[in-house]
Amino acid sequence: MSFANKLLINGKLLEGDRTIEVQDPATQEIIAVVACASEAQAQAAVVAAKAAQPAWEALGWEARKALLLAYADAIHERASELSEAMVREQGKPLMEAQGEVFYTEAFVRHFASLTLPVSVLQDDASGKIEVGHIALGVVVGISPWNFPALVPIAKLAPALLCGNTIVLKPAPSTPICTLILAEIAQPIFPAGVVNVITDQNDLGSFLTGHPDVAKVTFTGSTATGKKIMASSAATLKRLTLELGGNDAALVLSDVDVSATAKKVFDASFYNAGQACMAIKRVYVENAIYDVFCEAMATLANEAVLGHGLDEGTQIGPMQNAAQFEKAKHFIEVAKRDGIIIAGGTLPESQGYFVRPTIVRDIEDGSELVDQEQFSPVLPIVRIADAEDGLARANRSSYGLGGSVWSADAVRARALAGRMQSGTVWINQHLKFGPHIPFAGAKQSGIGVEWSDLGLAEFTQIKVINEGF
Ligand code: NAD
Repeated sequence: MSFANKLLINGKLLEGDRTIEVQDPATQEIIAVVACASEAQAQAAVVAAKAAQPAWEALGWEARKALLLAYADAIHERASELSEAMVREQGKPLMEAQGEVFYTEAFVRHFASLTLPVSVLQDDASGKIEVGHIALGVVVGISPWNFPALVPIAKLAPALLCGNTIVLKPAPSTPICTLILAEIAQPIFPAGVVNVITDQNDLGSFLTGHPDVAKVTFTGSTATGKKIMASSAATLKRLTLELGGNDAALVLSDVDVSATAKKVFDASFYNAGQACMAIKRVYVENAIYDVFCEAMATLANEAVLGHGLDEGTQIGPMQNAAQFEKAKHFIEVAKRDGIIIAGGTLPESQGYFVRPTIVRDIEDGSELVDQEQFSPVLPIVRIADAEDGLARANRSSYGLGGSVWSADAVRARALAGRMQSGTVWINQHLKFGPHIPFAGAKQSGIGVEWSDLGLAEFTQIKVINEGF
């Protein structure tokens, strides 16, 4: 299979001034050599986006919507290519990749269905006050390596619909999906409206500090989010930051243990634990602690690891070497601070595989519980009761998501209301969609993505206040 490998700058698909070797994380084989931009090419992308923006905004909402729908159709046509490329560069199982590509198209279609109507606050003898929305200008979208198609597109679609132009930059270890999306965009959008550049982790700050960029929409780690906030300060750029999470699952003793363990397991080890809103720590009431841990260990022992393209694979590899090292570190922490009851081993393989690892008899204060492990090493902490668990769940600088698991809907709803995170699920976790706002609390982010609330973040409020 050959892959898209060119940058998109000012409507042209271009070679880079440098290259990136892309690895299959399941084999460490180099699967492609793709274009990598220089700083001059990043500059050209911003210049093109700035030049194209006024005409794109002037085109009007309906015309922009029509082009976004054409883009969704074109993504649909190349869905199987995108899914396969995603497995090869990212490592996730094919079914998960197909799900991400389905969502990628669905996000474009959903945004294209939205409007931001002008509201009239007052219209009487003394005057008329209207509140509308206008474009911001050039938007920069920076994405991580765990969802290499959905994350950039969930930035592109609302940015463009509102009349902004965009420069996208994917993570260096997963550039291919974004380059395919660039190739799909090239014949559809006017030159300069969509620009895609790649880097070697070295052009992000150039883009986020650029004086001609009005807004940065970033998904990635909290540490990088803080750097972006600092580099955006000089020109007071608008920011949406979707950052790290350490989602807690609070499991009460009235649950059906085996059904709940299965759902908690799936939401913990989705994408091999490399999902911002995966369950990262589990708090289980004392009465069912032992039996719940056993059920989780059984699921971990049964899980099938493998190449994402192999039939039957449930869990793929860590996406990159640094992430693999991180997982190995957390296994050592687990051995020191808790008891490993499943996994804790690395299968013999050239790939970055880690067996799903269940760790019990571990406490808050261990870095495996307190930090975002972003790998398939899951701590299960014993709690005295729901109040104890809630207090522990809330004692975190993160606040992306969390979940409460109980047969008592009223009690679960009350606990969910007191959990300090942007999203709280009840008897499920990790369910999301383009119509649902997504916003991290505390150090998990700033601003909102998705839904009409997320759409509005790509605009400036404009008040027209007319006296009679
Ligand atoms: P990362 O922060 O290391 O990198 C993300 C992106 O930022 C990459 O494209 C990288 O090249 C770029 N970057 C690096 N330094 C930069 C700088 N100084 N200025 C601007 N850009 C820079 O994150 P990662 O390791 O790729 O992804 C994993 C992290 O992403 C985890 O913390 C995870 O929780 C988070 N994440 C969050 C969400 C969410 O929606 N909240 C979704 C997915 C991933």
